Amino acid sequence: MHADLLVANSPLILTMNQRDGDTLGPLRGGAIAVTKGRISWVGDAADAPPASEVIDASGTVVVPALVDCHTHTVWAGSRASEFERRLTGESYTAILEEGGGILSTVRATRAADEATLTSTAAHRLAAMRARGVLTVEIKSGYGLDVETEVRMLRAALAAGRSADVDVIATFLGAHAIPAEHRADRERYVRHVIDEQLPAMKGLATAIDVYVDRGAFTLDEGRRILEAGRAAGLAVKVHAEQVAYTGIAEVAANLGALSCDHLERIDGAGIAAMARAGTVAVLAPGAMLYMHDMAPPIAAMRAAGVRFAVATDLNPGSSPVHDLWTCATLACVTMGLTVAEALRGITVEGARALGLDDRGVIAVGSRADLVLVEPPAGEPYAASSLVQHVGGARIRRVLRAGVN
Ligand SMILES: [Zn+2]
Repeated sequence: MHADLLVANSPLILTMNQRDGDTLGPLRGGAIAVTKGRISWVGDAADAPPASEVIDASGTVVVPALVDCHTHTVWAGSRASEFERRLTGESYTAILEEGGGILSTVRATRAADEATLTSTAAHRLAAMRARGVLTVEIKSGYGLDVETEVRMLRAALAAGRSADVDVIATFLGAHAIPAEHRADRERYVRHVIDEQLPAMKGLATAIDVYVDRGAFTLDEGRRILEAGRAAGLAVKVHAEQVAYTGIAEVAANLGALSCDHLERIDGAGIAAMARAGTVAVLAPGAMLYMHDMAPPIAAMRAAGVRFAVATDLNPGSSPVHDLWTCATLACVTMGLTVAEALRGITVEGARALGLDDRGVIAVGSRADLVLVEPPAGEPYAASSLVQHVGGARIRRVLRAGVN
């Protein structure tokens, strides 16, 4: 066997492929061979196959490229003034009532052309890529009409091509009820199901709904998710964040890939997620900006629910671009272990998107790899990548084995 590429001399490779009871699958003195963009061999460096090119990974921990499985990366406009108003004590509800909040982002996004949406999203994705993120889920949901919802997802996919990042597009027409439908919410639910959803063909791979107080009801959410599933889309949901609604249990029973946020999930929801293998996507950035409480991590862990960690990047409740920081916050503010946090931004993030070809360093997986230098003076250990905010430096990002 002759490989195209060998990643060698790393003091520590975290494969995310469980070995000897360690879920991070650590490999010391190991190497990784890449052939045609896929990992073709992983093992002890002494047994490595010959390769056309060798990448020197000395001084770095090698991990799978990161997966950010919940973002709203396409938007127009700015909510900076609203951020300042909230810091002076104005409530989110008061700002929303005068047309601010998400509805101001909807107005700006409707007014933006596709080229503008694409270029701003591509800049955001480029910043994420520089930090080692190569797969990003992006939701629609700032259009809330057929034309803008389609434009958002077209821009999301184009931005991914431009920034050299894999974008997975999710349809979130049920993100909010737009101003013109406020008087008749049932008419908007029908609009989402009958008009927006069919227009997502060939663009979206999943459907998502924001079920919460002030958003969609349990019954509306169920009908929209069922329609999406019938149209062949995977199911995801913003669940149990501001108020408990029961949507996590409903979505898990529909076979949801993930339920996201979950600050207020109950025992029945946890049991349903565990049965269905639904991933709990944690958004510590939103929890921080909303001054919210932590989800019941211990109860979910005890039930066997697995955790992914995402930025939930959006201009309002989670203006957070850096997934590494979210891994740290998930440990510090929610109580995840280092291993759970690192798996949450790699292999479990991929699982939350229904992807089994990445997020792990194993034969057959995509050769999406990141070479990370721990903060100065810290050991080559998993904890060194998570303990410090902004401490780990990205030396190199390989996508399908290419720089
Ligand atoms: Zn979200």
